[in-house]
Amino acid sequence: MNAPPDILGSTAAQYINNAKAFGINCERALQQYRRFFRTGRTDVQLNVPEIRTIEHIETEGNTTKFTLRHGNDLFSESVIIAYQRADQTTRTTLCVSSQLGCAMGCTFCQTAQLGLLKNLTARDIVEQWFAARHQRNQHIDNIVFMGMGEPMDNLDAVLESIEILTDHNGAAIAPARITVSTVGRCAGIRRLATFSNRPGMRSLKLAVSINAPNDTIRSSIMPINRAEPMSALLDAMMQWRDRVLIEYVLIPTVNMQLEHADALATYLQPLRCTVNLIPYNPRQDSPWPAPDEGSIDAFAHRLSKRGMFVTRRRTTGRDVAAACGQLGIATPARVRRQPSGRRASLSIAGITNPAT
Ligand code: SF4
Repeated sequence: MNAPPDILGSTAAQYINNAKAFGINCERALQQYRRFFRTGRTDVQLNVPEIRTIEHIETEGNTTKFTLRHGNDLFSESVIIAYQRADQTTRTTLCVSSQLGCAMGCTFCQTAQLGLLKNLTARDIVEQWFAARHQRNQHIDNIVFMGMGEPMDNLDAVLESIEILTDHNGAAIAPARITVSTVGRCAGIRRLATFSNRPGMRSLKLAVSINAPNDTIRSSIMPINRAEPMSALLDAMMQWRDRVLIEYVLIPTVNMQLEHADALATYLQPLRCTVNLIPYNPRQDSPWPAPDEGSIDAFAHRLSKRGMFVTRRRTTGRDVAAACGQLGIATPARVRRQPSGRRASLSIAGITNPAT
């Protein structure tokens, strides 16, 4: 073996196994692994491939967005959100990116403007946790795969990163505190369901962006729906053993009339789920404004009346473009994919699951 064992991209078992080739016994390797993940410090014997340091940080209130450089003009964006619970304790959620850019083309999303630039590796994903935990010195309670990219389009790396992040000798994030969010790629949902059947992974959480009450509206704002319509998506979601978090971005004039709430409730009726309403955060050059409070409340109330369990995501980080659907602004315009019908249709054909 020429390369040193990459501790950041390994579970403890993988690291211990690789370290043997460097004459490091199991006990010592385990000590190194624990020390590295828990303190962020490297052992003198440890040869850690370079770890990126945070380049840009922007904070608004309880929300911090940071970037890591992945080459000239390529950045991953991650968001740390701290929130206070009813019992006055604070919880911190880290929103990680699984790709740079995204191929899914959702019309309401800033990241879609980039096109897909790069899949991140498991190590790249874990590195975002490392930066938040040990460079920002933040205790991280929850991880959500809701940053840039569609996790199901890079599922090997996402699953590998979950194995590393949940390793009890390392980051030790409980699976119940990890949510994978998808635009609804059916094969990906099924594969994640199989993965979550593994011992120790059963409490992993699934979130699915629905964002529309019917195929016509959904196809107009989420191109993936043309390849995988809502009936197929419902079948896939029914495979999930636990409650599914349904994400619904409320976009004025598009999907938030009261009859849309009724149709959504009818569609979701067979599924055990919670609907999380997300007020639209206008992307650059957005054709739509943010929704007003009265319309949001009316939609939520209507869903509740129809027996749905409804939560509402508080908008945070809008001023630093860290809010939901706004990631991607750190990547310079010259790197962004220019809109092209041909490329868009290729992306759709290649779709196996839509993103967040
Ligand atoms: S909403 Fe999610 S899946 Fe859709 S373009 Fe944005 S990042 Fe991709």
